[in-house]
Amino acid sequence: MHILHGDIDDVFVRLISRTHMNAIFFNKDEVGRGKERDDYVRTFLQKYGVDVYAYDDAHLHGAFEVLKADGTPYKVYTPYYRAWRKRPKRFPSSVDMALLREHMLHMTPISEDDERAFTMWLSQCTKRWERTSEQDALHVLQQFIDTALPYYHRKRDIPSVTGTSRLSPHIKTGTISIRTVFHAVAQQFGNGHDEAVETYIKELAWRDFYHMIYAHFPFTKTEAFIEKYRHLPWSRDDERFEAWKEGKTGFPLVDAGMRQLKEEGWMHNRLRMIAASFLTKDYLIDWRMGEQYFQHMLIDYDEASNIGGWQWAASVGADAVLYFRVFNPIEQSKKFDPDGTYIRTYVQELASFPSLYIHEPWKSNIKTDYPAPTVDHQLQRQRAIALFRMNE
Ligand SMILES: Cc1cc2nc3c(=O)[nH]c(=O)nc-3n(C[C@H](O)[C@H](O)[C@H](O)COP(=O)(O)OP(=O)(O)OC[C@H]3O[C@@H](n4cnc5c(N)ncnc54)[C@H](O)[C@@H]3O)c2cc1C
Repeated sequence: MHILHGDIDDVFVRLISRTHMNAIFFNKDEVGRGKERDDYVRTFLQKYGVDVYAYDDAHLHGAFEVLKADGTPYKVYTPYYRAWRKRPKRFPSSVDMALLREHMLHMTPISEDDERAFTMWLSQCTKRWERTSEQDALHVLQQFIDTALPYYHRKRDIPSVTGTSRLSPHIKTGTISIRTVFHAVAQQFGNGHDEAVETYIKELAWRDFYHMIYAHFPFTKTEAFIEKYRHLPWSRDDERFEAWKEGKTGFPLVDAGMRQLKEEGWMHNRLRMIAASFLTKDYLIDWRMGEQYFQHMLIDYDEASNIGGWQWAASVGADAVLYFRVFNPIEQSKKFDPDGTYIRTYVQELASFPSLYIHEPWKSNIKTDYPAPTVDHQLQRQRAIALFRMNE
């Protein structure tokens, strides 16, 4: 692998002059910054007489594959899913390594300086992730299939157990193909846990759905999908935003999720929903601030899924949760972390708190450094609903 760093034009000019390449093959991005980059490079390379071959790979179905009969995009998940599900899913292509090797070009580094810069950046990383190879990803997949998949439909919402695949960082970075994941899971149909398998496949379809929405409505990075909610008067409270980021809101489950994000760069899906709902409906803070913070923190950051998830929780997106169904952070806690195992893992101040009070520590007389609730949930819920009603 060769590392080159600089402006796109400069890098490709160096590459072309060094390799005399006449064709380039790559898997394209259909959304966001990646799409802008790909479009730019494509035009640039054509000027240099380099043939460009771009492929759809990152999703089971590309953004323009599953459309309504009239050629327009779906805006609601369930009909999209029905159409998506009926389509055959390609298998991953196999690679003939021996053939590839015959055509390999062995070169000394194109730029020693760039290679050195890369090594320096790596050494500055503040976190270290082990087990990031394709073999590791395949191992995670197999373990998930053997142990958690059969219970996926029942345990995927319980953050204290390994109920989900945790494949998102691998899927995002491409250490495993989404096709490999889909077919390995789909092979389990008929083994006595069809409901679990179907539930998992539905999640993979959410990924394609959000990607499709973002490709057709690129403005959603910064604007609500639902027009009437584009100018909601969100508050800008830096102190509360800081409390949310630091996991110091005073609501144990929300704080556990935010601390997991900070420690691991990953957060359980149930917690992403709860934390996003809390920021927007309890703190009434703009979903875009949350979306950007997640962008900064997540190791599985995916523009389309993150925007989709945030707009869903803020009730401003395609097929989003209705604005009057506000998540109650205490009820969510009692339901999905009943004995507080997940909370205790991430909120050290509550590590030895009795289960009876773990969801509402302020109700006990036990002394703790854990913060008191920063807002009154019921009051904030009413405010959030009023905010939306004013814009109906
Ligand atoms: C506010 C918010 C922000 C999110 N940001 C991201 C993000 O930046 N990157 C990201 O990959 N996912 C994001 N998600 C979706 C979801 O939370 C993660 O994909 C999931 O938690 C990853 O864990 P897993 O691999 O164990 O999931 P599993 O339950 O094992 O699901 C398997 C795969 O399906 C896909 N998937 C599952 N749920 C969703 C979903 N709701 N939307 C889209 N794809 C899904 C993911 O690729 C995931 O790896 C977000 C959700 C919310 C509510």
